[in-house]
Amino acid sequence: MSYSEPSLYRFPASVPATVSRPELSFVIPAFNEEDNIRKTLLEVAAEAKRLNKTFEIVVVDDGSTDKTYEQVARMTGELPLFAIRLSRNFGKEQAMSAGLARTRGNAVVILDADLQEPISTLQQLIERFEEGYDVVYAVRAHRNDESPLKRVLATGFYRLLSMGSECPIPPDARDYRIMDRKVVDALLSLPERNKFMKGLFSWVGFKTGAVPIELRTRHAGTSKFGARKLFGLALTGLTSFSDWPLRIWTVIGFAFASLSMLMSFWIVLKTMIWGVDVPGFATTTTAIFFLGGLQLMSIGVIGEYLSRVYSEVKQRPGFIIAEEQDANSAV
Ligand code: UDP
Ligand code: MG
Repeated sequence: MSYSEPSLYRFPASVPATVSRPELSFVIPAFNEEDNIRKTLLEVAAEAKRLNKTFEIVVVDDGSTDKTYEQVARMTGELPLFAIRLSRNFGKEQAMSAGLARTRGNAVVILDADLQEPISTLQQLIERFEEGYDVVYAVRAHRNDESPLKRVLATGFYRLLSMGSECPIPPDARDYRIMDRKVVDALLSLPERNKFMKGLFSWVGFKTGAVPIELRTRHAGTSKFGARKLFGLALTGLTSFSDWPLRIWTVIGFAFASLSMLMSFWIVLKTMIWGVDVPGFATTTTAIFFLGGLQLMSIGVIGEYLSRVYSEVKQRPGFIIAEEQDANSAV
């Protein structure tokens, strides 16, 4: 497979034949998870051993300001660990990409660092995977733990996203999933920088299965996805996987042009029959504000797409690695 992206941050795509690939690679993005990461790593390692799998764990510290990286680096002596520290917080999507690029396993599992997804569900994912799927993702059985507002917004977002999208993006799918090596290689070959992984996962295709899981509450700390981050991610998702927000303005424009044409005929006719009317000030003002608002909205939408095009054109890497440490170099 050839990669169009500079392979600066990629583990050598061709692992030398002498290096045996582990059966499983875990990718764990972590941002300020100092109270969770140790427990997560121990649980993951214990479960992998229980399932009799050879494994490696790639932890990507996404610019944490706490002791997350130190915790992980300290554990490289006891576990088959690869610790990567990004130079700042680049966001979970980039952290996952950084981790995926470092994996060597025949299958890759992406997992959160906060133990929300019970590790006991790994067995179900693997069993399904071994039935012949290329990807098996976890889907949350319900969203009862979330506020009604968040639930409505999430449903609305997935609805908007699925409108006119060439590949359906399953609602409520977690990033928690197991993927075959070929799927990971396909993902890594995508050169875009504005990454919306949930979209890319389904864009690459392959035989995909789902397993419903019950989420737990976070082991420690609070969610790292505030309203602003979620909104940004939603915009990236929409702009990278649908173009109807751009196109819809053509339709609206045509509708308004046709309506105003009809109206102008009506006004000419009315003036000819009944003479000049006193113009309605309120109607005119409302129409101006309404149309002005619509135009600003449409320009704003174009701006959203343009800003993403701009950031792609700049070709900056999606993330920068500040330091890394693997199990072999650990003392
Ligand atoms: N995360 C990250 N970078 C970020 C935000 C989150 O690497 O900028 C990681 C975080 O440490 C966790 C996972 O992504 O392992 C999911 O984040 P979180 O639990 O805060 O999200 P939620 O479960 O609330 O959706
Ligand atoms: Mg979480």
